[in-house]
Amino acid sequence: MLCDCITIVNEDLRQHNTKLSTAFSRVGTRLFVKPLISTEKINPRGKSGPMLVTPTYCPFCARKLADTVEAEQATITEGATHV
Ligand SMILES: [Zn+2]
Repeated sequence: MLCDCITIVNEDLRQHNTKLSTAFSRVGTRLFVKPLISTEKINPRGKSGPMLVTPTYCPFCARKLADTVEAEQATITEGATHV
């Protein structure tokens, strides 16, 4: 059974003009969509960062994301970040 939480939550958020931030995570040759955990720089003048952080388990149903999130093609859309 596939985890469809990102799609379901985004459908609920749409009425508030909001969607989850997501990032692509590569497993072998496949790309998986994962929710993005918000991060920020510790030192705002630092040259690098902030790093992108994604959870291993779905924050909504607690299933392991790489095993349950449907793979999508490598189409980078607006607002998504390749990792
Ligand atoms: Zn889920």
